[in-house]
Amino acid sequence: MIETHAHIYDEQFDEDRDAMLKRAFAAGVKQIWMPNCDHETIDGMLALEQQYPNVCHAMMGVHPCYVKEKFEEELAVVEQWLERRKFIMIGEIGLDFYWDLTFVAQQEEVFLRQLALAKKYNLPICIHSRNSKNNEHNAILRCIELIKQFGWEDLRGIFHCFSGNLEEAQKIVEINFLLGIGGVATFKNGGMDTILPHIDLKHLVLETDSPYLAPVPYRGKRNEVVYLELVARRIAEIKARDFEEVVQQTTQNALSLVGLKS
Ligand SMILES: [Zn+2]
Repeated sequence: MIETHAHIYDEQFDEDRDAMLKRAFAAGVKQIWMPNCDHETIDGMLALEQQYPNVCHAMMGVHPCYVKEKFEEELAVVEQWLERRKFIMIGEIGLDFYWDLTFVAQQEEVFLRQLALAKKYNLPICIHSRNSKNNEHNAILRCIELIKQFGWEDLRGIFHCFSGNLEEAQKIVEINFLLGIGGVATFKNGGMDTILPHIDLKHLVLETDSPYLAPVPYRGKRNEVVYLELVARRIAEIKARDFEEVVQQTTQNALSLVGLKS
C-alpha cells in the first residue's frame, strides 16, 4: 500500500514515531508521502525523509490554513526549496473555507501561484479543499474552477481526503485528478458508500491524513499510518472487490501519478 497523505512529522508522534512507522511497514505500507504545511514543518519532514530514504517522500507547498498576512514569505520559502532539490509533489495546497473566510482572496492567489510552480517543475499537486460549515462556499468546485482557469492540460494530482458528493467526484475524474480516500470512507455518515460504487478504482488512492481523521473503530482518536489497511478494506467492501485488487490498483495509480515504478 502507498500512504499518499500523512503528517508523520506531527508532534503527536514524538513519543513513538519509529514504533508507529514499524507497525505501518509490518502491515504492508511501502511508501509514505508527507504533505507540507508551512515553513515550520519542513525540518521535521525532511529529517524523516533522510531517515527512511525511498520510503518517506516529502512534498513542498503552503497549506491554505497557513495562508495569512505573511503568505509572501511562506511562498518564498517554498520557491527556494523547489529551486534547491526534487520533491514528490507540490502540496498540500488549495482552499479551506471551513474555519474562516478572511483570507480567501490570498488563498486563491497562493493556490494559483503554486499551480505555476507545479508547471515550472512538472510536478503533480496535492489538493486540500474544505467547504464552509454551511456548505455555502464550496472549496472543491472552486479549486476545479481555478485549475481550469489556469489552463495547463498536463496538470495532475490528488483531491486529498475526498468527502464531497458524487457530482463533485465525477468532476474531479473529468479533469483527470485522483480522489484520496481516507477514514471518511469508514464513517456511517461519510457518504462514500453511495459514491464509490460509481467511481472506478483507477481514480482512487489511499491515505490516512494521520494524525487526523482516524477510521472506525478509532474515530476521534489519534490516527496512524497502519490504519491505511482499514481504509483499503472498506473500499473493497463498498466496491465488492478483493482487498488485494484495491491495494494493487491504488498502488499503481499512486506510482504512475508521480512517475515511480513499482
Ligand atoms: Zn493534510
